Amino acid sequence: MTSIPRLHFAHLPTVIEEMPRLSAELGGPRLFIKRDDQTGLAFGGNKTRKLEFLVAEAQAQGAKMLISAGAMQSNHCRQTAAAAAKFGMECILVLTGQHPKKPSANLLLDFLFNADVIWVADRKDRDAVLKHTYETAVAGGAMPYLVPYGGSSATGALGYAFAVDELVQQNLKPDWVIFGTSSGGTHAGLTLGARLFKCEAKILGISIDEPVSVLKKNVSALATAASEKFGKRIVFSGEDILANEDYCKAGYGVLGEQEREAISLFAGKEGILLDPVYTGRAAAGMIDLIRRGVFQKDETVLFWHTGGQPALFAEMYQPDIL
Ligand SMILES: *Cc1c(COP(=O)(O)O)cnc(C)c1O
Repeated sequence: MTSIPRLHFAHLPTVIEEMPRLSAELGGPRLFIKRDDQTGLAFGGNKTRKLEFLVAEAQAQGAKMLISAGAMQSNHCRQTAAAAAKFGMECILVLTGQHPKKPSANLLLDFLFNADVIWVADRKDRDAVLKHTYETAVAGGAMPYLVPYGGSSATGALGYAFAVDELVQQNLKPDWVIFGTSSGGTHAGLTLGARLFKCEAKILGISIDEPVSVLKKNVSALATAASEKFGKRIVFSGEDILANEDYCKAGYGVLGEQEREAISLFAGKEGILLDPVYTGRAAAGMIDLIRRGVFQKDETVLFWHTGGQPALFAEMYQPDIL
């Protein structure tokens, strides 16, 4: 267990704050928030914990370049570009869309970190372009390391397995842990960590863009693979994965009334900023579950903030936030 390669640059432990005014407004359970929007590394977010393990693995393999892919406003790509800069590596990002006239928010930061961006007009071509980019870099002697979508490999998931150890030491003992889930690394790490570090909370991922069936398959496979890194394989099945797909019908990155209300409630009641794509949607899910009485009044619910606020300033979302 101690032999898992890891760098230490995240600002840990992240603090846990109570949200009494939001709880009173909703007439809900006790609400807390874990501030992984403040993990350090280029405005923070959940990718910092994953990158501690991913960059360590890249270095162990002698890599000199990080290659990854995502949406134009990918938080994962922004943080990967920052990590590459910090550790003196090159970075290539394969992003969907076209070079906008005025790069904003996460994309602006990608350029500030000197990442090379390769544009893919159609998302369905992204895998092929990513593979080609990687193979070209290998052939050219660039010694690249391929960081998977969202940093969600077994290695990346370790960041959130250890995050549960951190949570247990903070001694809150929540009944529920709620967060946005997409590529599944956070979800897998938290689920594995709860098993390893004896956290009894229900680990409920609110889907950002995937059906529950896909999440259960991906997350259980990632959690199983990540467990092997601790030296003892634990087999997770779909039944071990709690996920909700009720809030993602509008599609990835579509900012609607539910996200707007969640962003405005967190801002207005607690002075906390959510993001338009992930935490806005996950919080909207939590708020709806509270209103529908899914949690008991005497339960404690922890919302795990996963970051993403730079996207508040993205040209594509800004007109819709208020
Ligand atoms: C990437 C991301 C997520 C989703 O995490 P996964 O591990 O990919 O499921 C949630 N919130 C924010 C802000 C993110 O950037």
